[in-house]
Amino acid sequence: MQVFFSDIQLHHAPREFLVRGQWKPCPEQPGRATALKLALAEAGHGISLPPAGDRAAIAAVHDARYLSFLKTAYQRWRALPAASESIVPNIHPNGRGLGYPQSVVGQAGFHMADTACPIDGDSWPSILASADCAIAATKAVLGGMGSAYALCRPPGHHAFSDMAGGFCFLNNSAIAAEMLRGAYGKVAIVDVDLHHGNGTQGIFYERGDVLTVSVHADPSNFYPFFWGYADEVGAGAGKGANLNLPLPLGSGDDVFLAALDTGLAKVRGFGAEALVVALGLDAFAGDPFAGLAVTEDGFRRIAARLATLRLPSVLVQEGGYLCPELGRNLVAFLDGFAA
Ligand code: ZN
Repeated sequence: MQVFFSDIQLHHAPREFLVRGQWKPCPEQPGRATALKLALAEAGHGISLPPAGDRAAIAAVHDARYLSFLKTAYQRWRALPAASESIVPNIHPNGRGLGYPQSVVGQAGFHMADTACPIDGDSWPSILASADCAIAATKAVLGGMGSAYALCRPPGHHAFSDMAGGFCFLNNSAIAAEMLRGAYGKVAIVDVDLHHGNGTQGIFYERGDVLTVSVHADPSNFYPFFWGYADEVGAGAGKGANLNLPLPLGSGDDVFLAALDTGLAKVRGFGAEALVVALGLDAFAGDPFAGLAVTEDGFRRIAARLATLRLPSVLVQEGGYLCPELGRNLVAFLDGFAA
């Protein structure tokens, strides 16, 4: 399968994030991408550099004020007296207050849902290069390639139109879906990451032309906590075009696949003409987040079922954290998709 990746994506290297009130090493490390890339190369997948620069595709999904924040915040933050090396918000507008502050401290709280998306001086070029992978893979599919894979890192599915969160800044899957919408009337996003794709859901929640389906660990006791419940079905024109399939913590292949079948029936009923797979690998039993218990063979089977939709498909890397099997799981997924 055609793969897109740029080494610029390795520059963003967040050091820490807060877990139960304690600073821990951030698991969203450049080594994730290196491991995935190595496994792909060993399995014979061709890896291409994405061309840079389609900012219109990003602006079609993301708020202008938010993009300006991402681009300029680091320099403004570092100009503050006694500021940390990375931007981490220390105040949040509960319910998104009424005002939009000039202060970068206030803007950080406005645009960052949590402390798991620190920004430093190398972040923005990596974030853009990650989006470039999704854009390039989508252009390949729009050009007639049946499927393509974007090795996006940092990931994207927790990013809303105007808010970062959970290691995510630009919503690569949403950018791909919006681009596909330029050529197809109805597009579906199926998110198989361990965590609910709350940003993707938020971006399309009131739209009837993009179906969002997410299979994930039950957010009652799991990130992102405030989204991902079964009764979130979309609103307005989007009512009925959002399907959440939360699973009990610890669920394995069979439970996951049964939920996926429900999701795929929804995609068929919706009449999707193109597909984005938000491809997290952190539902793996051995992933450090340990939320679900999908196996390597499970990923192969998940992919094979997604392929039965027989739609033009953009596969976008989301989560999946360092463990010895990370690269093998991706190769198994791509094998299953192509089989
Ligand atoms: Zn995840």
